Amino acid sequence: MRLLIVEDEEVLAQNLKKILEHKGFAVDMLMDGEKAHSRILLYHKDYDAIILDLTLPGMDGATLTRNLRADDITTPIIILTGRSDTESKVALLNAGADDYVVKPFSSEELVARIASVLRRPVATQTVVHAVGDIVIDTATHRVSVGSTEIVLTLKEYSLLECFFRRPGEILTREELSSQVWDFNALTLSNVLDVHMKNLRKKLARSSNSARFETVRGVGYRFVV
Ligand code: CA
Repeated sequence: MRLLIVEDEEVLAQNLKKILEHKGFAVDMLMDGEKAHSRILLYHKDYDAIILDLTLPGMDGATLTRNLRADDITTPIIILTGRSDTESKVALLNAGADDYVVKPFSSEELVARIASVLRRPVATQTVVHAVGDIVIDTATHRVSVGSTEIVLTLKEYSLLECFFRRPGEILTREELSSQVWDFNALTLSNVLDVHMKNLRKKLARSSNSARFETVRGVGYRFVV
């Protein structure tokens, strides 16, 4: 597993690198947002996850995330932020980040969050499922409608997979949250809604048959 840390506070960056290497990760480090952007555009396939500071010289972490998602780069991104207000956390998720950690944080917390975004269901064989006109491959996590691939972030994919297991049924907010997040991320309950909104938008662009119904106060239903 290879990580890229983009953090301009050198002491913090070096410490993180040391801790993560100790946990068995290969770690590259950059201190400038613009340089990170160029590196990730070329080498994103080399990284399993990117740890991104919010305030960076060159290009800030949120802009960088937005640019990468606009280029269909889906590598998991965890943002290190100094701001703990709900609005700025939601803004980070809307920019396309998979998760965030509020500074100051313990190394255990960061490691847990990395493990969480990296955790993918173990697939022993390619299993393709179709619901309506949407096809998912649980081994490669590819989602498509006809010949069009729908590029989803890891969280969006995990949510869609939950719905694929039980099409037509109501999935409660608690069920969805516990399937997709296992570190107390859902102290912030609108996080789920933000991811659902993005997932809906992406599917609506290509799919004619599938949609999500909001069941007020309960959860969501995947209808085909
Ligand atoms: Ca900084």
